[in-house]
Amino acid sequence: MKRVLKWIGIVVGVLVVLLGAGWYSAFGSNSPIVEGAIADGVLEVKDGFASVFILDAGGGKVALIDSGHDASGKALLAGLAGKNLTPSSVAAIFLTHGHGDHTAGCKLFPSAAVYAMEADVALVGDDAHIEHPLKDGEVTKVSDLSVEAFAVPGHTPGSAVYLAHGTLFFGDSAGASKTGEVMKAVSLFSKSSAQNVASLKALAARLAPRRAEIKELAFGHTGPLAGFEPLAAFAAKP
Ligand SMILES: [Zn+2]
Ligand SMILES: [Zn+2]
Repeated sequence: MKRVLKWIGIVVGVLVVLLGAGWYSAFGSNSPIVEGAIADGVLEVKDGFASVFILDAGGGKVALIDSGHDASGKALLAGLAGKNLTPSSVAAIFLTHGHGDHTAGCKLFPSAAVYAMEADVALVGDDAHIEHPLKDGEVTKVSDLSVEAFAVPGHTPGSAVYLAHGTLFFGDSAGASKTGEVMKAVSLFSKSSAQNVASLKALAARLAPRRAEIKELAFGHTGPLAGFEPLAAFAAKP
């Protein structure tokens, strides 16, 4: 009996080490999520392991990029309150994709129009009603704010990158390493890693003529990176 327990102990120990190594290889090199202003008109809120971004839209209104993993919205509502805003100040939510850690907070904002790419509407499911599925290249106005959507399929079929306030919002389609490099989507959680990389390279080529517009890169589970160059450097890798 003692021997059996000993072997169970060894097996459990090995599993813990393997899981730890797996976790580290997936997330250990991530730059940590930051809290506060990352660009003019852009506030990053740390909702546990996920980021939500509050974008000034003018006239006392804001738009969100994603809505977090916490359905009770503790961190997000505190972030809004810190700007003297309430849930009714949120005029629009732009979902980078349909995974639950980005869509769970949508129900807290019943007056917001929720946007997502057409190909991820099914994945969003009951978390939000998508009134207007977005197409690649579409620009949406929210009061004074313009939000441009780019299709970057790979992490999910309908993954989007948004450009607003000179910031590109990648959701889970990319991340930032501690050493300042753009990293591809985490393969384990992605539909197609190869398609994700191809989409990021295509986006870099598409936006290269507009590089002066892009001041910041922002990600769903890491801190931000400054300027367009880290994306260009990623795209230049074989
Ligand atoms: Zn995801
Ligand atoms: Zn995520």
